[in-house]
Amino acid sequence: MNILIIGSGVIGLSTAFELALAGHRVRVITRNYEEGTSWVAGGMLAPYSEGLEGDLLEFSRESLSLYSDFIDRLSDVARLSIYFNRNGILRLAVDQEELSLIEKKLSLYARLGISFQKLEVEELFKREPLLSKTLMGGVLFEEEGNVDAEKLMDALLFACENLKIKILIDDITEVELKDGRVESVKGYRETYRADFYVFATGSWSRQLLKLPVFPVKGQILKVKGLELDKVYYSKLAYIIPKENHILIGATSEDAGFDRRPTLGGVKSLAEGSIKVIPSMEGAEFLSVKVGFRPATPDEKPILKLGENFAYLVGHYRNGILWAPISAKLILDFVERGVVSPYFDKFSDGRFKT
Ligand SMILES: Cc1cc2nc3c(=O)[nH]c(=O)nc-3n(C[C@H](O)[C@H](O)[C@H](O)COP(=O)(O)OP(=O)(O)OC[C@H]3O[C@@H](n4cnc5c(N)ncnc54)[C@H](O)[C@@H]3O)c2cc1C
Repeated sequence: MNILIIGSGVIGLSTAFELALAGHRVRVITRNYEEGTSWVAGGMLAPYSEGLEGDLLEFSRESLSLYSDFIDRLSDVARLSIYFNRNGILRLAVDQEELSLIEKKLSLYARLGISFQKLEVEELFKREPLLSKTLMGGVLFEEEGNVDAEKLMDALLFACENLKIKILIDDITEVELKDGRVESVKGYRETYRADFYVFATGSWSRQLLKLPVFPVKGQILKVKGLELDKVYYSKLAYIIPKENHILIGATSEDAGFDRRPTLGGVKSLAEGSIKVIPSMEGAEFLSVKVGFRPATPDEKPILKLGENFAYLVGHYRNGILWAPISAKLILDFVERGVVSPYFDKFSDGRFKT
């Protein structure tokens, strides 16, 4: 099938990768490779640390279970190794309120057979001597993971090239619809036609698709200098080790598409990380990046299947985690006509009165 994907973030490129691997002719249109939020993400695969429940939890667990295989196949095709592990994430409480919030979810997670270790302060400080002694406790979610999002994006671009996927630079300004089908998409440079269209336009989906998606600005720091073996997640900061650096995330700001990093953002992340691991004070500061989480009013994605098109947008805080399952939903439909129940659960119909 001749497939056109609009958007070159992790969602668009993962979908392109899976479809091309299955033998389809795929083109990706993007107005800017580097604009995508996916380049900025922390890369945590953290459904339990994020405290997800219900449909979102189920969706996340399915995606997490696909991750190792996804990374193996991708690094193979891209011929690039991708920093990825399932060393677990240590969810920390900086005060009593955060501790209660974490503990509230544990009985649900235990019922679902999710493995975790609850660590009272004595045990926590014995195992993790770098942590501040002011912390109130923690839970190690052993199945959670960590992928280098920049490396993942590099690998997706390399894989696209190796699979002969055409990446075209254009800004799509109009979708021509007729009787519920997409007839064409119009860019500044050309009008494009395909058998099937996938819209993966992230935070910019409101303009093009008239969907209730809006940007939530996030600043994230890159530092180096400490040896850490897992992610430390608290409400003050997430400290996320990669191969040669550490990320400290992330602010959450209602600031539209304002790309400027701020001193306030840098200060709050630096201070937050030092409160959790005091020796972070000696880390070398490398850079600060800004991205825009594609949010929706209920924080769930919008997955819609039309006759010859699909929307995969609104992945908010978990687009890196949800990339494999998002791509699989499209592959299953295109290859076998399977319509996943997630298209119903996360349909845009929920916003229509
Ligand atoms: C600071 C920060 C930390 C984060 N940490 C994590 C994390 O730890 N774990 C996790 O799972 N998620 C995390 N996220 C969320 C994650 O980054 C996003 O959910 C994900 O990147 C969204 O991917 P996407 O492909 O939908 O959008 P994007 O990556 O934004 O890509 C959208 C693409 O569409 C293109 N586009 C848009 N409109 C048009 C148009 N009209 N014509 C042509 N092209 C168009 C854009 O140029 C862009 O390339 C984080 C986000 C931020 C900001």
